[in-house]
Amino acid sequence: SLRAVGVTKSFGRVEVLRGVSTDIPSHGTTAIIGPSGSGKTTFLRCLNGLELPDSGRIEVEGEIMPWSNGRPILGRRREREAARVRQEFGFVFQRFNLWPHMTALENVTEGPIRVRRMVAAEAKELGRSLLARVGLEQKIDEYPRRLSGGQQQRVAIARALAMEPKILLFDEATSALDPEMVGEVLEVMKDLAYQGMTMVCVTHEIGFAREVAHKVIMMDDGSIVEEGTPGEVFDTPKSDRTARFLSKVL
Ligand code: ATP
Repeated sequence: SLRAVGVTKSFGRVEVLRGVSTDIPSHGTTAIIGPSGSGKTTFLRCLNGLELPDSGRIEVEGEIMPWSNGRPILGRRREREAARVRQEFGFVFQRFNLWPHMTALENVTEGPIRVRRMVAAEAKELGRSLLARVGLEQKIDEYPRRLSGGQQQRVAIARALAMEPKILLFDEATSALDPEMVGEVLEVMKDLAYQGMTMVCVTHEIGFAREVAHKVIMMDDGSIVEEGTPGEVFDTPKSDRTARFLSKVL
């Protein structure tokens, strides 16, 4: 499992995470909800070391990640170690972040070829099958500018899967999309969830969270105010803060 213990993070004088501890179940989906600015994205980025926590630690199956205990990642050996374990995480950004000069297929095969040292033919096979899995077999040779936002985000998901991560992190993966494209991306995420992928999703899609999440974490002001099953958090929230937040988004 994935575990955070006492994670803190400040930007300048602003304390964005005030000691966040939680367990993320394996082979399940965890949804992180909460108001804007509560630290959800920062917490997600701390999980895979895109942000370095000021203190606290991140553990994957008992192994302490190099971006723990407030230590900067300095030196060749620690950098290499951090790069190696970071590959256990896939990350899907709000704004896709595809390489604009590469086709959909090239976006997906770049990581396997460069980082996993896969031979090109094998990487292409993998890329084709992943793009088919996200419903884009017809679009493999298109450049991102010729794809809709929903299609670009599906390429981004295929690209993350191509690294065969143990854990997939989604940072508001649908909130930059036009409304009519949200559904197609959520469908792909639901498929992954039902296939038992370990996922952590920062999301405003309460319906999605209710349908697929095993665990819901409600954050406010840099802390976890409540966590539990979707039924517990959505139907019988223990905290007033959660109840007020839900009354606004539901
Ligand atoms: P949203 O739903 O709006 O994305 P969030 O819950 O994900 O919000 P964060 O994005 O983690 O919240 O941001 C928490 C706070 O940290 C905000 O006040 C934000 O302005 C601040 N913040 C985030 N990243 C940085 C940064 N790199 N430098 C300075 N401040 C930052």
